[in-house]
Amino acid sequence: MRLPKSDLHTHTVFCDGKGTPEATVLEAIARGYHTVGISGHAYTPFDTSFCMTDEAGYFAELRRLKALYADRISLQIGLEIDALGGGRPSEVDYVIGSVHYFDTPSGRFDVDRSPEELLRALSLGYGGNEHAMIDAYFASVVDVCDRLRPEIVGHFDLLTKFEEMGSPINTRSEYYYGAACDALAAAVRVAPRLEINSGAVARGYRSEAYPSDRLISAALELGARFILTSDAHTPGNIGYAFERSAERLLALGCTSVDVRFGDAFLEHSLL
Ligand SMILES: [Zn+2]
Ligand SMILES: [Zn+2]
Repeated sequence: MRLPKSDLHTHTVFCDGKGTPEATVLEAIARGYHTVGISGHAYTPFDTSFCMTDEAGYFAELRRLKALYADRISLQIGLEIDALGGGRPSEVDYVIGSVHYFDTPSGRFDVDRSPEELLRALSLGYGGNEHAMIDAYFASVVDVCDRLRPEIVGHFDLLTKFEEMGSPINTRSEYYYGAACDALAAAVRVAPRLEINSGAVARGYRSEAYPSDRLISAALELGARFILTSDAHTPGNIGYAFERSAERLLALGCTSVDVRFGDAFLEHSLL
């Protein structure tokens, strides 16, 4: 199996990650990567608990590192922009479009903070109607794809994060699958590259990366492309479980992924 030597979904101390951008770049170089992307959470004024508050400093530092290490690795300057966040700044090489919030008349709730927070969102935001909650989540996914045309659609299936630890909603239902497929069809038309994101596996929430096998198959039928990412919040988790992600894709009949090579996405055979 040929694994990509490139990872575009990483976080640093500029947002909620633990390593500096330089430590991330050096770790990628140590692993023999040709390309690494740093994708800090773009500023969200209504919740600064995990986003960046100094985007200018972030871009300046990444530009410095990009030049400093240019002969050893291609550093790609990214941003993970939330559906409720801002637009695409001119400084970025790529963006990841993600949904981390429910925006309801009763307030905003986190999608992925904890099962308790998800229950609060369900009760207070949607009056206990889980179908409405599922619909709202996927409507936001389609929105962020329409609005940003992101190079990568972030953790498409984030709503399943707590599925293995007693989620208050049933994300294994046919209703959920149908809503996810409808959103996939709309998203893939404008943003056809989805990630196989192992972040929740690294952090002990899930046994497999997002999205589910069933949704991967549905996405492939729609002509989607996949890219392997780690959503690493520490430099040591770059490339986390890429081998497992590649095995899953191969088992589902997908023999190649997209890989960022310098400034371009190239098709990369896993075989
Ligand atoms: Zn995210
Ligand atoms: Zn992320």
